[in-house]
Amino acid sequence: MFLKFPKNFLWGASTSAHQVEGNNYNDWTEWEKQNAGRLASQAHKKWASWQQKKFPEMFKPENYISGKACDHYNLYEKDFDIAKQLGHNAHRFSIEWSRIEPKEGKFDKSGLAHYRAVIHALKTRGMEPFVVLWHWTLPPWLSKEGGVLNNKFDRYFSRYVEFVCNGLKDDVEFWITLNEPTSVIVNSYLRRQWPPQKMNIFAVLKAYSNLSKAHNLAYYQIHRLSPKAKVGLANILAYIESRNPRSFIDRILAKIFHYYSNEKIFKLTSGRHDFLAIQYYLHDLVGVGKKKPLPEDKVSDMGWEIYPKGIRFVLEEVKKYNLPVYITENGIADKSDLKRLSFIKSHLIEIHKAIEEGVDVRGYFYWSLLDNFEWDKGFWPRFGLVEIDYKTQKRTIRESAFDYQGIIQKNGVEL
Ligand code: BGC
Repeated sequence: MFLKFPKNFLWGASTSAHQVEGNNYNDWTEWEKQNAGRLASQAHKKWASWQQKKFPEMFKPENYISGKACDHYNLYEKDFDIAKQLGHNAHRFSIEWSRIEPKEGKFDKSGLAHYRAVIHALKTRGMEPFVVLWHWTLPPWLSKEGGVLNNKFDRYFSRYVEFVCNGLKDDVEFWITLNEPTSVIVNSYLRRQWPPQKMNIFAVLKAYSNLSKAHNLAYYQIHRLSPKAKVGLANILAYIESRNPRSFIDRILAKIFHYYSNEKIFKLTSGRHDFLAIQYYLHDLVGVGKKKPLPEDKVSDMGWEIYPKGIRFVLEEVKKYNLPVYITENGIADKSDLKRLSFIKSHLIEIHKAIEEGVDVRGYFYWSLLDNFEWDKGFWPRFGLVEIDYKTQKRTIRESAFDYQGIIQKNGVEL
């Protein structure tokens, strides 16, 4: 049976500035230098023996320095030629705030000109740009002033958005203000794994509030400047269950976790979404008991469970908002490329079910177009449709990317 997707469905892939561009100077660049040695020496505690064997680069400090990354800043045209060749008709990328406003209040026109050229390159190749305004990195002046916890964060963000939007509005319809605020809140202020590595419940609440205010203000700002704009916020939604459904504590914990992960940001930004940008990776079993490790064939290279049904469940969850939905990230770290095709297909089959159940899904962006710098894990996880040789910057299209191309050409999947 053939599952056809709606007419004019958008198909593409995503990237983010810091993960692919290379030669950035932001809060992460500084943090990487200070933490690369520690991350390399802790890898043996963090990863299973099959992962350690498969990715010996995780023991090297240079794995944790973004450096030149994929040199996408210079090679974007080549990369978009590949995306075009693979049939993509849309592309999601982010703008690096530190290139636009390297010093407080000093906006760099040449920084913006680069992104104008990027958008032009996409449009001339027939790809609809989805522009993310903040994918986690901060200009160092702002991180020194407390980053997202700064009381003026929303105004700083809005001033930056105004500059960018004024420069790009003629060529951009789809704007995503923030990428996954909850990922930053959890990893920076709860798990203490990302800069600024603070653990503090007040900081968590403040970050929720400041990031939501920043989205809300940017939403109005963009609409004021560009009446045709469609504005959203990319939210990571996990499919959450209690680890032991018979345990009262696990059930309560799962409810709390669900609220903070999948609901709170929507509540705080309600009425300020023209579309929903949903990103799905995780099936989270929440509870106090021990987690059962899953066999290698059921997980990605990063040990994340492959659980396609979850994407349908989260889509059904957001049906109540009655908005168009774009899946702006969904992907797998899979160096050998043995699981990627079945990952994409099985998730698309579930997305198709959600569409049949009335969820208005209008696009799918695989994460990621290129292998890239995976934050505190560095370069070893390989998410790309395109493999990067970081020494030579050679691009090699993975087999699964051609299969995805086949899906795009037919606008659907074979069951
Ligand atoms: C983030 C990406 C990241 C991907 C895989 C998403 O949550 O937006 O930056 O690379 O997950 O971990």
